[in-house]
Amino acid sequence: MHEISLIHGLIEMVKESAADHGISHVDHVRLVIGEWHGALSQALNFAFKVLTRDTICEGAVLEIEKRSIRYCCQSCSKEFMVLQWPYVICPFCGAQIAELKQGKELYVDYYEGE
Ligand SMILES: [Zn+2]
Repeated sequence: MHEISLIHGLIEMVKESAADHGISHVDHVRLVIGEWHGALSQALNFAFKVLTRDTICEGAVLEIEKRSIRYCCQSCSKEFMVLQWPYVICPFCGAQIAELKQGKELYVDYYEGE
C-alpha cells in the first residue's frame, strides 16, 4: 500500500518540527495531496492511524485536502482538468502538449498541538 510510505514521510516531518517547537502532542494535521499520487483517503486515514500509534501524533485528526490534476496547454495556454488520465489532450484546441500545473502536491499544510 503506497499510502503507508506517503504518510510515513509526513509524520516524520511533523514529529521533527513539533519537537523543534516544544510541542508534546499533536492533535490536528492538515494534509494537501494531489490526485496524481492516486492515494485513497480511506487508505491514508488508515495509514495515519497505524503509523501514529505510540507517537506524539497519536489520536490526532487527519484532515485531507485533495487537489485535482490540472494541466496548462502549451499551445493555447488554457488550463484544463484531465478526465481520462493519462490521456492528456487539450479540450480547447486538441493539442497534446501540456504542462502539469496542479495535482502533484504532497505536503502538510499545518498541524496543531500543544
Ligand atoms: Zn490548447
